[in-house]
Amino acid sequence: MSKYSQWDHPIFKVLRSGEIGFAKGHQSGFRVPVELRKYMPVLPGEPTSSVPTIAVPLAAELYLNGKHKFSVLTNYRIQTWGGTRLGETRITANVMGLLNLAKENDVMLISRRKGEVDIYRLELINRGDPKFRKVAGLIAGRSWGVLDIQHIPLSLADEYNTAVEAEEIRERLPFTLFDIEKKTSVSSETKISRSKAFRKRVLQHYDYKCVLCNSGMKSAGEASELDAAHIVPRSVLGVDDVRNGLALCKPHHWAFDLGLWCVDTEQNVKVAKNSAQISENRNLVVRDGQRLDEFCGNKLVAHPDALTWHRKNRFSDNN
Ligand SMILES: [Zn+2]
Repeated sequence: MSKYSQWDHPIFKVLRSGEIGFAKGHQSGFRVPVELRKYMPVLPGEPTSSVPTIAVPLAAELYLNGKHKFSVLTNYRIQTWGGTRLGETRITANVMGLLNLAKENDVMLISRRKGEVDIYRLELINRGDPKFRKVAGLIAGRSWGVLDIQHIPLSLADEYNTAVEAEEIRERLPFTLFDIEKKTSVSSETKISRSKAFRKRVLQHYDYKCVLCNSGMKSAGEASELDAAHIVPRSVLGVDDVRNGLALCKPHHWAFDLGLWCVDTEQNVKVAKNSAQISENRNLVVRDGQRLDEFCGNKLVAHPDALTWHRKNRFSDNN
């Protein structure tokens, strides 16, 4: 693979008989072994008996022996068949067009597009194709792994875990409003991992409930509708720290960012006078004066400096 490729270095998987198109009773798609999960997107949760499958959508470019065949929307999922078996990760949906062209022991190369966490290239290499010889030399008898052990792809799981650890450490230090690290020194993957880590820490802290209205719809796959809102926004380098975050439903996040409401020094919700008159805002107006820390079960950890910044710079009664 070229040094200048848009794709990160590939991992591979030798396809088994149960994973190829003409096999009887096969599951759709193919398995991603546990050891390769770290190169795949971080899933938003762990499966349980009530939520047996957790999936994220992936855009995939499907190639056959170096030639582009299809662009599809597929997904990467962990599933437990009703919680009765250990979780298995798979790439499923809309990949049978490629798997139908496979025979047992053909090889699937999996590469992530650089700078993205959810765009992948899946390339089937048939054993009869001239390209197979080079691939087989790198595989050297293994069933799966990093294709060329001299060229290890970026691990999204490691990026994510590093971001979570960094946020945990930062949250034990005195609070700062702004992220002092220069934007330019950070890769897109790191930015995305930090954003995911911030989201997870904020939503977990507030039990996946909007701090203003207690709502929090979830999909069957554990995806939460909620936003982890930055009080001092990322656009002005607001820090990824749970003390600079609020779990908010989308309407309340939108209204917070536009300054329709703020939190005063007594931790009461204050709705802007110029917005309170508008009849469409009644679901916000009913929250005026609500004691925010008590409403969210005394879990409010938003830092007073962050809330003050928001009141001064965003609250629309000031404008
Ligand atoms: Zn809400």
